[in-house]
Amino acid sequence: MDIVAWGIALLFLGYAFFLWRPKLMNLRSGMVDTHSNQAIISTKLQISNDEETRETLSLEEYHKFRGSLHISRKILLSTIIPTESRREVRDYTVVMGDSVFGIAQKFNLKPESVLWANYEQLKDNPHALVVGMKLKIPPTDGVLYKWKEGDTVEEVARTFDVNPNDILSWSGNHVDLTNPQFIADSLVMIPGGHREIQQWIIPTIPRGRAGVSAGLYGSGVCRGGYEGVYGSGAFIWPTENHTISGNDYWSGHLAIDIGAPTGASIVAADSGVIVFAGWANGGYGNTVMIDHGNGYQTLYAHLSSVVARCGQSVIKGQIIARSGSTGNSTGPHLHFEIRYQGGFVNPWYVLPPP
Ligand SMILES: [Zn+2]
Repeated sequence: MDIVAWGIALLFLGYAFFLWRPKLMNLRSGMVDTHSNQAIISTKLQISNDEETRETLSLEEYHKFRGSLHISRKILLSTIIPTESRREVRDYTVVMGDSVFGIAQKFNLKPESVLWANYEQLKDNPHALVVGMKLKIPPTDGVLYKWKEGDTVEEVARTFDVNPNDILSWSGNHVDLTNPQFIADSLVMIPGGHREIQQWIIPTIPRGRAGVSAGLYGSGVCRGGYEGVYGSGAFIWPTENHTISGNDYWSGHLAIDIGAPTGASIVAADSGVIVFAGWANGGYGNTVMIDHGNGYQTLYAHLSSVVARCGQSVIKGQIIARSGSTGNSTGPHLHFEIRYQGGFVNPWYVLPPP
């Protein structure tokens, strides 16, 4: 009985193989069989060795599979794309809670690269970000540069401190090496390029000096000429929460953004005299600055309300304001700066461990 069963099974196998043979032949010869998706995939994969074809294939839609020449994105992912890094510029729309720092992290880039790529909108100010803004995300770290009439590759390379070849050989720039030139207004990636960032800041205001221009820096400017308490040089966190929400300290953001819900208490990080209290221009919103009298100043921005007044002496831990999202801010947080002798200090170096 067993032998008979095995015989029948073998017959079925043989018949099945006979039915499939023509299709297998098609696959080997690369012919397109419109009734067989398998054959289509095989054909596409065989001709997809050059990069142009790869990019075209990656744009195919996922669902239009059956009865057409479209192929599944899943198959592409597992067979071609993983070894490729990104080459093209992407668009990104800013949503609530975004920061230049956070967006850069999302795309595995340095925050400077995102800032440099969007100079026309951000003007080097990471706080100029607003919800709904459309940003350009460069494919790699460096400067995404809008080519100008009359630019030369050598000149642009020198400006951003790279070799001309770094620009010409970046495949995303699609340079014809027999005639290397760029069209005015096109976006050109300068991998590894960098430049200085222009800082928009409120000047450091010592307690004894007359106030700076309110017209330029905002109505929160104090008139100055104050005396008062001195700081200890040992800081405390100005918020109950000790975690970053948004921008950490980096070259385009000489401060930390600390997570703080609207209305949370903001306290003086050390004792000192209030030298700025109220509205500040340039995206800071409601702002407080304390001069600690020992070379240090601290600044607190995006406040919903200011409690302290110009010239007031405040002691370490005293409530000076309530947190908020005023000025250029995509969500409530505290923008906190520490300055020393007019320069900027990374708050992580002087604050106690979180
Ligand atoms: Zn900030």
